[in-house]
Amino acid sequence: MKKYIFIDFDGVLNTERHHRFLVSAGKKTSDEFGPCFDPEAVANLEKIVDETGAVIVICSSWKLEGVDRMMALWKTRKMPGILAGCTPDYIPGMDILNLDLDNPDAFEQLAGKGNEVKQWLSENAPKNPEQYQYVILDDVPDFLPEQMDCFIQIDPRVGITMENAEKAIEIVN
Ligand SMILES: [Mg+2]
Repeated sequence: MKKYIFIDFDGVLNTERHHRFLVSAGKKTSDEFGPCFDPEAVANLEKIVDETGAVIVICSSWKLEGVDRMMALWKTRKMPGILAGCTPDYIPGMDILNLDLDNPDAFEQLAGKGNEVKQWLSENAPKNPEQYQYVILDDVPDFLPEQMDCFIQIDPRVGITMENAEKAIEIVN
């Protein structure tokens, strides 16, 4: 069984709580890569990795800096787990023509990140959906209806909690 963790960064690994802590402690809030991650959120990600053996796929917009840069971040910040890559960039196709523009949530129907996850899976996961399992950790529910059972909405104030980690382990295992 292949296992994947699709992970966002802002509001998931870097948190409002940790940012406030760093500011009040007079410490740097960023390094060469960007805002520093919250050690508690990282520890909870590590718990998911340790108990599932899942590999990591970045779906954060940080991926726009390139996969090599993300690999360097993973190594430099001593992040847990194996980084398998980044989701591709979603370019709206014909679906944009089908948008109901009278609906105030119309653009959410595009589910940009959901389509990116779908595309990554179609290019990298086994063809048989019974041969893999995944979880998505993001603070914004920009995903497709069929992905919602595998989605955990993270509270951007505190990032990945112990409770989130336990739910993620249950989904992936
Ligand atoms: Mg985010």
